[in-house]
Amino acid sequence: MATDSDYDVVVIGAGAGGLNAALLLARARRRVAVVDNGQPRNAPAEHMHGFLSRDGMSPSAFLEVGREEVVGYGATMINAVVDDLVAFDGGGFTASMDNGQVLRARSVVVATGLRDELPDIPGVRDRWGRDVVHCPYCHGYEFRDQALGVLGVSPGSISHAQLLRQWSADVTLFAHTLDLSDEDRATLAARGIEVVDGAVAEVVVRDDAVRGVVPADGDLVARSVVFVVPRMVPRDALLTKVGCAVGEDGWVTVDKAGRTSVPGVYAVGNVIDPKAQVVTAAGMGCAAGFAINFDLVQQDIAAAVAAKTS
Ligand SMILES: Cc1cc2nc3c(=O)[nH]c(=O)nc-3n(C[C@H](O)[C@H](O)[C@H](O)COP(=O)(O)OP(=O)(O)OC[C@H]3O[C@@H](n4cnc5c(N)ncnc54)[C@H](O)[C@@H]3O)c2cc1C
Repeated sequence: MATDSDYDVVVIGAGAGGLNAALLLARARRRVAVVDNGQPRNAPAEHMHGFLSRDGMSPSAFLEVGREEVVGYGATMINAVVDDLVAFDGGGFTASMDNGQVLRARSVVVATGLRDELPDIPGVRDRWGRDVVHCPYCHGYEFRDQALGVLGVSPGSISHAQLLRQWSADVTLFAHTLDLSDEDRATLAARGIEVVDGAVAEVVVRDDAVRGVVPADGDLVARSVVFVVPRMVPRDALLTKVGCAVGEDGWVTVDKAGRTSVPGVYAVGNVIDPKAQVVTAAGMGCAAGFAINFDLVQQDIAAAVAAKTS
């Protein structure tokens, strides 16, 4: 097949996961291309927290530094969408991009992250990443002791409210779609968490800030921050297309070094783990970088031995 360029590794996605894999591999003197279309998951947030030595940095500045480091070791950065991935006989892959370019590589890292599907409640999407958020560990400290609301969009919202009680004594759970048992109500009440029954009509936003939550059949309940757990959908179409195994939970399975069930295809970060934070995704990328280089060295040994004996 005719291709534009040959690489040892093509990394698809330049978030923390993909960039850290690329950094390891470029430093291992591998020919690396990184393809990305500039939509990291935490782009709506102004600050990133929980990453030692990077705490409070802006997500875009963090990724900019990462890209510079990777390019500094000779990797190629391409701004495009990879829309097809094909494995070919004899090993290797082609990655086709929406700019018409096709890259051929011995191995592929898919680090495409996930998509947050938000509930269709007015106000939620507008404020996402600012004062409508999901992760207590990313935002809880900054919103400590404030009036927190939790939208009940799945059974997990109950434990979400209980968790947030760690950061503020003023937590209200809006039941919305939840059917709360007597036991749920008792445990929430025991921790001083208010419950507002019924559907939510709107998250009210005024003067560039969340002001509260309006139940369908009630008055505004003043809140300064709203937490909601989105439905997290992995961007794994390229992985499933090449036949990577999917677990019972619906997520592509990998070993500790990011190896999928398809030899030569690795996956790191939120595309295989919705819980991965920035530091965790970067760690997964690092581990995959080690594994990929090791696996390529094994191929290089086999090829060298075959060449000697033929
Ligand atoms: C609002 C918000 C705030 C957050 N705050 C924090 C925080 O403070 N601290 C923290 O640790 N975590 C935070 N997170 C979680 C954090 O965003 C993730 O942990 C992190 O982004 C995972 O990194 P990743 O590399 O797996 O994916 P991403 O960072 O999402 O990177 C994936 C990249 O792949 C690209 N891509 C996708 N598909 C393709 C394709 N087909 N072709 C080319 N490129 C593609 C995307 O454009 C994107 O750049 C936050 C999340 C949200 C939603």
